[in-house]
Amino acid sequence: KPTVLIVLGMAGSGKTTLVQRLTAYLHTQKDPPYVVNLDPAVSEVPFPVNIDIQDTIKYKEVMKEYGLGPNGAIMTSLNLFTTKFDQVMSFLQKRSSEISNVIIDTPGQIEVFTWSASGAIITETLASTFPTVVVYVMDTARSTNPVTFMSNMLYACSILYKTKLPFIVVMNKTDIVDHAFAVEWTSDFVAFQEALDSETSYISNLSRSMSLVLDEFYNDLKLVGFSAVTGAGTEDLMRAVGEARQEYITTYKPEYDKLK
Ligand code: GDP
Ligand code: MG
Repeated sequence: KPTVLIVLGMAGSGKTTLVQRLTAYLHTQKDPPYVVNLDPAVSEVPFPVNIDIQDTIKYKEVMKEYGLGPNGAIMTSLNLFTTKFDQVMSFLQKRSSEISNVIIDTPGQIEVFTWSASGAIITETLASTFPTVVVYVMDTARSTNPVTFMSNMLYACSILYKTKLPFIVVMNKTDIVDHAFAVEWTSDFVAFQEALDSETSYISNLSRSMSLVLDEFYNDLKLVGFSAVTGAGTEDLMRAVGEARQEYITTYKPEYDKLK
């Protein structure tokens, strides 16, 4: 059975570019992935796509028809598509013996997927059938401030709780800023406290307490430096995906089955 990679992250973190990079890499490995685009509003899908939400749902027409603004229309488009997700599943099932990876690109704005019923339904439907992992993309260059870094990690943590799936944090855009600071902050508690000390912000007491909580989250976290532009870190990422898949099989799948 293929591994399903659900790619999540803040708008502009580089999800679509990462999917493009990973798809190109897997083609060179003679192991092309099955790619699904769930962003109804991306102007142009920059990778070869097997299933594209835009083929069946025109989000501009959804805007007109339901009298919605852009955000409402994106949400409604995903809802409409979810009602037909059983068809996506049957396509995946048919191809499942020939493919190793299914890559899912999600809407630019993260909450459209992570805080909607349709996002939850899609995630659970995939995870009940295939080994499924979350690839959480962060913009390294925009995370060098310790408080910002921590906010993004707290968001990652909340997604872990919502999806209950193996989790990989991708520090993207390492061509702009090296991710060594993130490795240090997530492995050395004291180093992070010192970084917070240099912030004279009024929230530093709260962030100190928060970072204690996050320390637990960091313990089993897979953190990978990556550049969707240069391709640096691609093999590290695929290795982490392999580990996460194993984790799904040994830890997550039995839990899912218990719930059924
Ligand atoms: P999405 O909203 O998460 O899908 O983000 P996109 O993939 O559309 O990327 C947002 C912007 O970041 C685009 O201008 C990309 O060219 C840029 N970008 C994405 N990945 C990288 C990277 O690894 N390095 C650099 N320098 N820019 C990147
Ligand atoms: Mg995108």
